[in-house]
Amino acid sequence: MTQHIVIIGAGQAGAQAVASLRSEGFTGAITMVGDEAFVPYQRPPLSKAYLMGTFERARLFLKPEHAYADTGCELLLNTSAKTIDCAAKTVSLNNGRVLAYDQLLLATGTRIRPIKCPGAELKGIHYLRSIADVDRLQPEFATGKKLMVIGGGFIGLEVAAVAAKHGLEVTVFEALERVMARAVSKPISDFFEGAHRAAGVTIITGTGVEGFDGDGAVTAVRAGGKSYPADLVLVGIGVLPNSEIAAAAGIDCQNGIVVDKNARTSDPNVFAAGDVTWHQGRDGQWLRLESVQNAIDQAKHAAAAMAGKPKAYNEVPWFWSDQFDLKLQIAGLTRPGDVQVLRGDPELRKFAVFHLRGGAVAAVEAVNSAPEYLIGRKLIAEGARVAAERLADLSVPIKNVV
Ligand SMILES: Cc1cc2nc3c(=O)[nH]c(=O)nc-3n(C[C@H](O)[C@H](O)[C@H](O)COP(=O)(O)OP(=O)(O)OC[C@H]3O[C@@H](n4cnc5c(N)ncnc54)[C@H](O)[C@@H]3O)c2cc1C
Repeated sequence: MTQHIVIIGAGQAGAQAVASLRSEGFTGAITMVGDEAFVPYQRPPLSKAYLMGTFERARLFLKPEHAYADTGCELLLNTSAKTIDCAAKTVSLNNGRVLAYDQLLLATGTRIRPIKCPGAELKGIHYLRSIADVDRLQPEFATGKKLMVIGGGFIGLEVAAVAAKHGLEVTVFEALERVMARAVSKPISDFFEGAHRAAGVTIITGTGVEGFDGDGAVTAVRAGGKSYPADLVLVGIGVLPNSEIAAAAGIDCQNGIVVDKNARTSDPNVFAAGDVTWHQGRDGQWLRLESVQNAIDQAKHAAAAMAGKPKAYNEVPWFWSDQFDLKLQIAGLTRPGDVQVLRGDPELRKFAVFHLRGGAVAAVEAVNSAPEYLIGRKLIAEGARVAAERLADLSVPIKNVV
C-alpha cells in the first residue's frame, strides 16, 4: 500500500494533486518540494491584473501556507529536487536530504526560453514567469518609456496591453507572419493586431530580433536591419519543459515527460502532470499544453491513479487571454484544414470563430462572447455536428444551434 507520495514542483498542478489525493481518499504522507519562495500560486494574473496593479499579491496564492500542513502535506519551499533514483525510489534534494517515496509526481512545469543573441545579458531585459519577475519589471513601468516586447504570443501581448495602459510606448516584434500564430486562427490574430494598433502599440511581424545594444543596460533593439531605441525589453518567446530530472532518471521524455492517459510515466511508480507532460490529446495527437486547465485536470487524474482509482484523461483543453477590454476564450485545438465559421461581428468587439472538422465542432475562439465559448466547449465534448449556416446565424440563439 502507498504510504508516502512525493510531489516535485509546488505550482498549479502540485497544489491540485495535494487536494485531489485527499479527496480521492489517500491518507498516507505527502511531501511537496518547490524551488520558489512562495506557496503554490496562479500565474495567469502575473501578465494581466497583477502587473496592472489591480490584483493583490495575496490573491495569487492558491491556498494559505497552513492549509498544506492542515491536510498533512509537508511543504518544502526554496528547495529543489536534484536527482531521482527510480530503483531505490528516492529523491535527493539540494539541501542534502533524501526523500523515500512509494509514488512520485513530477509537476515541475516549464521555465522561460532564454533569447540567444548579442546583448541578451544586458540590464533592462526582462522575462515573465514568476512573482519575482513581475517584482523586477513593474517598477520599470513609467509613462513615456519605450518598451520593446520580443514575441507576440499571449504573454507578450498581455504585457503590451498593460504597458500601453500605463502610458508606455510599446513595440512588439513577432518573428512569424502574425501574432499568437501557434495558438489562434488568422481571424483572431488579425483582430488582436488591430486592437493593439488602435491602442497605440506598434506591431512588427515577420521580424526576428538580431541583437541588443547598450553599455551595461539595454538602449536599443536591432531587428530587420534597423535599430529601435529601448528603455526596457520584455522577452516572451516561449518556455522549455523542466523534464531533465526525469530524463536523467531514465524516464521516457520527448518534448516533455511522456505520460499515458492516467498521467503515468514509463516508470510505474512515477506520474507527471501539468505543463511538463508530453501526452496524447483527445484526437490521439501528442502534445504539450501550457494551461491551467491541463495542470488542474491532469493533476486530478494523476491523483486518482495514485490513489488506486485510475480514470482516463480525455478533457477538452481550454485557455484564455485578457488584453485591454477583450477576453479571448478558446476551447479545443484548431488544426489546418478546419472549416472556420464566423459568428458575430469583429467590428463590435464581440464575435466567435468556430472550427468544424468533419462537420463536428472541434474548437471555438470567442472574443467577449462567453455563451459561444461555453456552449462551444460543450459541443466539442459531445462531438456535436452543427450546420455552418446555423452557427453563423445570430438570429439562432447559440444554445439552439444543434
Ligand atoms: C505570465 C503567465 C501568464 C499565464 N496566463 C495563462 C492564462 O491566461 N491561461 C492559462 O490557462 N494559462 C496561463 N499560463 C500558464 C499557466 O500558468 C501554466 O500552464 C500553469 O502554471 C502550469 O502549472 P504547472 O503546475 O504545470 O507548472 P508551474 O505552475 O510552473 O509549477 C511548477 C513549479 O515547479 C517548480 N520546479 C521545477 N523544477 C523543480 C525542481 N527540480 N524542484 C523543485 N521545484 C521545481 C517550478 O519552479 C514551479 O514553481 C500563464 C503562465 C504565465 C507564466
